[in-house]
Amino acid sequence: MTFEKFTNEVMTLKKFFEIYCHDKHHLASSRNYTIAYHNQTIQIECTLCNECAELFEIAISNLQNCPHDEKPRCRKCPNPCYDKDTWKKIAKIMKYAGIKTGLSKLTSFFSKDT
Ligand SMILES: [Zn+2]
Repeated sequence: MTFEKFTNEVMTLKKFFEIYCHDKHHLASSRNYTIAYHNQTIQIECTLCNECAELFEIAISNLQNCPHDEKPRCRKCPNPCYDKDTWKKIAKIMKYAGIKTGLSKLTSFFSKDT
């Protein structure tokens, strides 16, 4: 996928994770990430607890390693990179935040029907 698309996916993940963590957890702290993709980098600041940060890092790393040019929805991917437990946890976060913001269609990563 293009760097622009990648950046959009990252920003959506960040936003959704922060919404979920803010509502559900009370141990968030500010974290800085430098994320590389296609020889370019994105700098972001996330406010997340340890648990959410761990999942966020997995999601970002899988996104960086996604082999598809046109990224399919992860749910329909022929070779998914998530293990089932991790997937369930992340899908729950995306679903919660997606419903709350009404923005679930903006990300190709997860869909409302996951
Ligand atoms: Zn959290």
